This record gives sequence, structure tokens and C-alpha cells, in this order.
Amino acid sequence: MEPEKQEKLYCVKMRASRDGEHVSGAERIVPAAAVPTVAAQLAARALGHSKGTPDFINVKVERPGEIVRLKALPVATHVTHTPAEGYACAAELLRGVGFTRIDEIMALFRETYNMRGAMLLDADTLERLEPDRARGVRATCMDDADSLAKGTAAGKNHYAEAIVLATKVQHTPGIVGEICVSDDPDYVTGYVATREIGYRRITVIKEKGDPSGGRIFLYRGPREQVPETIRFLERQAVIVEDVPPLEDGKSGMRWDLLADELSSIEASGLGRRCRTLDAPTGPTAVVDGKRLVVFSSNDYLDLARDPRVTAAAADAARRWGAGSGGARLTTGTQPPHVTLEAHLARFKGTEAALTYATGYMANVGIISALVGKGDAVFSDELNHASIIDGCRLSGATTVVYRHNDMADLDRKLGGARAYRRRLVVSDAVFSMDGDILDLPRFLETCRRHDAFSMIDEAHATGVLGATGRGLCEHFGCGHPDVLMGTLSKALGSEGGYVCGSRLLIDWLRNRSRAFIFSTAPGASAMAAADAALSVLEAEPERVGRVRENAAFLVAELARLGIKASTQSAIVPILVGDERRAMSLSDRLLGDGFLIPAIRYPTVARGASRLRVAVMSAHTQDDLSRVATALAGCR
Ligand code: PMP
Repeated sequence: MEPEKQEKLYCVKMRASRDGEHVSGAERIVPAAAVPTVAAQLAARALGHSKGTPDFINVKVERPGEIVRLKALPVATHVTHTPAEGYACAAELLRGVGFTRIDEIMALFRETYNMRGAMLLDADTLERLEPDRARGVRATCMDDADSLAKGTAAGKNHYAEAIVLATKVQHTPGIVGEICVSDDPDYVTGYVATREIGYRRITVIKEKGDPSGGRIFLYRGPREQVPETIRFLERQAVIVEDVPPLEDGKSGMRWDLLADELSSIEASGLGRRCRTLDAPTGPTAVVDGKRLVVFSSNDYLDLARDPRVTAAAADAARRWGAGSGGARLTTGTQPPHVTLEAHLARFKGTEAALTYATGYMANVGIISALVGKGDAVFSDELNHASIIDGCRLSGATTVVYRHNDMADLDRKLGGARAYRRRLVVSDAVFSMDGDILDLPRFLETCRRHDAFSMIDEAHATGVLGATGRGLCEHFGCGHPDVLMGTLSKALGSEGGYVCGSRLLIDWLRNRSRAFIFSTAPGASAMAAADAALSVLEAEPERVGRVRENAAFLVAELARLGIKASTQSAIVPILVGDERRAMSLSDRLLGDGFLIPAIRYPTVARGASRLRVAVMSAHTQDDLSRVATALAGCR
């Protein structure tokens, strides 16, 4: 650690606070020419901090004097999943390098959460050595060589900043160890560092959203040396070289981390696997040789195995081939695609329609074609994942409004007039709750604010309205600008679609990447959906039957003392705990019923549920028996 004379470097330090409480702090060592930019960047960082807007920002620029260059500590990662595991891991690391009185150190560590700087602690006597206990000791005046070379402070990199600090601290005379947790509510990773074991990242050491953080510097040495230790920490300029990239381990290392994470997913009841159903889609199935009544299928009208539908699929495959051979704009458009689109538009009462390979792709493709950077998309908090992903991919600002709360939507639209285009998107039937959108108020709110409106009719088509035309038919009201749906549920096939004006469809054909750059769905899927639409038009009584079945199930459950409700074919039964939901689902399987446990991340943590999907083909006997089995689970 050779001191070097540096004539042209400056240390730019930013500290921000609100009501005297620390909000943000950062610093860079940069060449003189970069000082104005970096000072502005650090101020901007303070203004945008997740802990809130500061009322005081201090940006200080000073010449650092002698600069010491250090090589970054080696890095290793310990994967933890809860704060308790993180604490235990930190304690174990300290114990492993020979510290004693670990429980007392960890208890003192919690006390540092109220301090502005670090606690300076005698590693053996646990005597506190910092002169000002409220302020603590601060390690400042450091940067990594890489950002010095770039001369910018763009973006916070918790990882690199922590290694720079830990490296400086572990090279400070008298310091023998450090333990740290960040006070950034969004950053849950902490570390233990010593010269011997290097920098040990502990992936989870606090709850997300927790704004508390702290650190202890462990000291060993004569008392007379303490002032020099503090001077080095607070004044000595340090540049740290060779900060290793995050998790840039040997090639096997990342797989280790994945395996570790996966076992914790399993342990917390969130593991997922596919079950093979050895039967055509329908109200019954055979799993591992056992016959089950299926309450998990979205084939609400029992059309996937209807002979008219399967014959249409088979004929189309024979006539047009198994696959379409290309994207719709190249070789993938065949007569069944065109016929189905015209049929969908007629059925929904719109000028035109367009199909996608899946409903998921339709949502992603539509939203990202309609809005982008500089626009805003307003999304119900319970919208389907494909809508959420479409919003994310679009690059538009996503504003999430409270579930089905049109007053909240109204307020949020009112506060977002500056955006170029505004799109509001909602599920028609909420797929994990079975309730429906208040469409008339939704449309009125969108119109009043001049925003595009879009609904996802995945679970509404074939289920809502007297003839299964969906939510508009249910309410007897007009259409939103964009009517999206899927062929994979009540229409018994696969693929997604969008219905709307000719202009909308022309726009999507030209601008929707999920449409343009993906192979067209095969003709058999198109022909099957077309045939299913025809069956639905010829036999609208199926729609009434599925809703009657759902209402019958809710009544049976109520009779047995189980609270459930629905406005569609989806009847959720709230359980809460993930593992309990899984064990109930397993138990119901033993009783002969296939009912999936819906868990995080499909629904919020602790909001697990059994999702009972009712079909028109279920008998009253099936429904009574499943209600009894569900009642037996309490
Ligand atoms: N939207 C909603 C509301 C859904 O439930 C689903 C399917 N689970 C989709 C879109 C995606 O449709 P697909 O399965 O055809 O990709």
C-alpha cells in the first residue's frame, strides 16, 4: 500500500438528510474535469433516493492529498433467504475466524441501527471506542479504480461501493473485521469482511422495505492507536482496484447458487412441477393410473375434446400441415388464420381481429406496440402476469391502481396528464379471484381522461354474457378500444387474439413484435378455435350451464360453512399459507379431485388459495362431492 501523490484528483462527497435523519450518502474520487458532472449526478441520486426526498443535500468537493491504492478483497457469496438466516451466517463467519462473544457482538450490531456512522468496537473487550457514540465513525474518501477511470457516478452499485468500503476498512491499521447491513430499504444484502476471509456477501440479512442498517468495525490494538485508526477511516484517500464482477465465479459457481435457491423454493412450499394427465382435456383425467375429477381446466365449455372441434383440427392439419412454417408476415398466413380472424371480429362485434401464438404473447405484443417511453400504462394491481410483462416490456411508465377501484384510477389518470399516450388495461375476469371488472365505469373513466382502454377477456369469453361474448355483453355496454382474449380457455384450442378497429389491427400488424417475429400458430389450432366458436354460437346454453354450475358450487360450499364467491367460472378458496395450500391440494388429490394450489408469485405471499375452475360438463354430483371434500379439509 504505497501512498502516491495525486495532483489532479478531487474527492466529491454527497450527504443528504431529512429532518436531520440520514437519507443518502455517496462519494467519488474523480479528475478535476469530471467534478461538475459527478457533483450533479450525486445530487440527483440524493433527490431520487428510495428513502424519500431530502431537505438538505451537501455536496462537498476537496483535494484528497495522498492516495493509497489497494487491491479489492476477494469476494464470496453466502446465499441466505431470511434475515434470521443472514444473522446466523454472519455470526458463524465471525466465529470461524476466531472472534468470541459473538452473541454480544450481534446484539451490539443491532444497536448500530440508530447510529449515523459505524461502531468502533474492541474485538475482545467489546469496549466501544468511537468518541461520539451517536455519530459513530465514518469510512470516507474512497472510490474504485474503475469508476475513477470512467469519471462518472451514474447509477448506484451497492455491491462495488460496499467492496470498496470494506477493502479500505480492512486495510486500516488496527481493524480486524467488519459486519454491515445497508440502510437502503431495497437492498437486503449485507456482509462480513476480514483480511483473512475477504468480503463475504450474505444475500439476505434484513427484510425488504426495512430502512434500518448499521455496521461495526472490530478493532484490536493499543488505545493510543485509535485516533490514527479513525483518521485513516475518515480522511485517508483510497482507490480500490480490481473489484471483481458480481458472482463472476467459476462456471460451476452460478449453478451452485441456483441449486441452493431452488432447494429453498422447495422448502418454503413454492416448488413447481408438471403433472402428466393421461386423458383428453375434459372434466375427468387419469393421473398415475387414478381417475380424477378435474377442477383445474380452463376448458370451461368442454370444447377441447368436442368431436366437431377435434375433427376441424385434424382436417386442418392434414390439409395445411402440422406447423405454419413461418411468421404471419412471411409464409405463415393460411386460410384458417384469415377465416378465424373474420369470425372473431364478427363474434365480438368489432371491425377486425388479429391472432397471436398465445394469449401471453398477445398481451405482451399489444401493450408494447401501443405505449412506450414517454407514455403511461395504468394497470389493475391484480392483472394477469402477461399484462404485467407487457407493461414492463413496453418501457412506458407503469402506474398500478387499486383493484377494480375506479376512483383510484380516476385520480391517477388525473395526475398523469403530461404523458404522451395513456393506456388503461384490466382483466375482464380476474383470473385468481373470479371477480369481474366494473366495465361501464372503467370505460367512462378512460373516456373522460382521453385514455386508450384495453381489457383481457381470457376468462370472460364463453363464460360471461347471455351468449358468451364476454364482459361487454354482460353489462350491455360499448367496447373498449382493445379487446384481447385467448383461444386456449373456453374455445378449447390455443393462441391469443385481439379484436378492435381496423386501424388498431393495422397498427399491430405493423408494430407488434410478438406478432411480427414469431411463427404463426398452426392451422389446426386456428381451425379448432373457429369450430369451437361455431359450437358456442349454436349452443349458447353451455354458457348458462357453466355459470349455473359455479353458482351451485358456491351455494354448496356456503351450506357447508365455507365462504366463497364468484362472478365467473373461477371459485377461489382462500388458504393463506403456501405449504398448507399444497398439502390441501395433495389431500384433495387423494380424494379424487384435481384442484391446484395457487401460490406466490402468481398471488401475493401468504395469499395462497385453492382455485376451483368449474366446467359446463361438471355434474351436480361432481360439484356436491368436491364441496364436501373441501369442507373436510378444514
Ligand atoms: N390473460 C389471462 C387473464 C390469463 O389467465 C391467461 C392464461 N392463464 C393469459 C392471458 C395467457 O393466455 P395463454 O395461456 O393463451 O398464453
